[in-house]
Amino acid sequence: MTMAGTAMRGNEGTIRAMGPTPALRRGACPTLAAPMQTGDGLLARLRPASGSFTADAFLALLDAAETFGTGRLDITARGNLQIRGLRTASVAPLSTAVHRAGIVPCEGIAVEMPPLAGLDPSEVADPRPLARKLAERIAGSGLDLAPKLAVIVDGGGRLHLDGVAADIKLVAGATDSTLLWHLLVAGKQTGVCGTEDEMIEAAMSVVADIAAYGSAARARDLPVEHLPPGSSLLAYREVSLSPVGRFDLGASVVLGIAPAFGQMAAHVVRPLILAAVAEGVSAVRLAPGRAFLLVGPAGWNTSAIVSLAASLGFVVHAGDPALRIDACAGQVGCASGRIDTHAVASHLIAHAPALMDGSLDLHVSGCAKGCARPRVADLTLVAMSCDGQPGLGIVLGGRAGDRPVATKRLEDGASAITALGQRVAETVEKGESAAACLQRLGPARIAAAFSAARFNGIDHAGL
Ligand code: SF4
Repeated sequence: MTMAGTAMRGNEGTIRAMGPTPALRRGACPTLAAPMQTGDGLLARLRPASGSFTADAFLALLDAAETFGTGRLDITARGNLQIRGLRTASVAPLSTAVHRAGIVPCEGIAVEMPPLAGLDPSEVADPRPLARKLAERIAGSGLDLAPKLAVIVDGGGRLHLDGVAADIKLVAGATDSTLLWHLLVAGKQTGVCGTEDEMIEAAMSVVADIAAYGSAARARDLPVEHLPPGSSLLAYREVSLSPVGRFDLGASVVLGIAPAFGQMAAHVVRPLILAAVAEGVSAVRLAPGRAFLLVGPAGWNTSAIVSLAASLGFVVHAGDPALRIDACAGQVGCASGRIDTHAVASHLIAHAPALMDGSLDLHVSGCAKGCARPRVADLTLVAMSCDGQPGLGIVLGGRAGDRPVATKRLEDGASAITALGQRVAETVEKGESAAACLQRLGPARIAAAFSAARFNGIDHAGL
């Protein structure tokens, strides 16, 4: 491992460091062994250690989700599967069913990989061997690390993970036909690159540095002098593609499909998986961007499965505006939810198209907790009280729990969303994005547009 300039010649989703699982502590990720209490019971997050489910195992998992939970499942923004509605007594049987299906769930620190790892001929390198070794080293280190510490090994390819944040990232780059892995820490390129073995040592050195700052420390907490100096020799990469769509990978064809807003019911997805299996699909992978990938044979004609998925309400086109909105389970799937988040999001898509040009990060939340998007969004619609009545708030550039610029009674919520969309449509200048338009309007005028709307007599179901 050396610095840039004097550089020494230098399954698929996730492998986890398998360590002892502590009881769920503050800031910890819910797991099968330590699920999290939510508004609709316990929630367990699951990811196969191999990064891939066999189709049979995935079907068994759907059965288990229905038997031991409510049958509702989420795919998170980072591509984890969440099983909802568990009870204390059903956690152990679920775990047994998962193991019986041959699924080895990840526990401990995640070492994530692109969802097409090992399948995509355009990747610079197959990241799986390095990810596996790094996961083993982290698990064996005995270090007390923050549960959400994120480690990525990215071999590149169509669905590379440049857009996914991580404390530590190893990214494959090739110079003069020589493969080098480059180290990024807290999202910043360093000058450190080297071979697989060298970069395991480099990554472990950063892991140890982070651990020295406490069990809740993240890479961003490291003082600048602890970060390796220099800049990377990593070449520019095209933006990662949407995981939704068809990927012809030569030896296989992969079809990416997304449940609307990342949530699906087992009884809805089951017929899709069964039909895909009948067409030769052998595996299911999860992808960042709340999607799942069906891995089929070479030359697979995916058109029938695409049609079936669309008829079942799944997102099958990368340009679908539903992919631009983070929405939690809401009152349909969570006892804490005070609005039908999916109805609000659907209303946003249908009646405020000016806001759907892709320039805005949009979030709809059933309460101030903001499960679907813990980070800031450009525009958040969140359930909150208004004049002592159920209402809808609008937060700009913040989280669901932040102070709204305006609130409306729920009965006026649909009209308020429509009015805001109309205001942007009337104000936006040629070539201007919705984000730039909202910026130009400013909070006061946005709040005025939202607040002025009154119930227009149309029953907007769920709002
Ligand atoms: S943000 Fe949504 S899913 Fe989370 S607790 Fe509130 S209503 Fe439930």
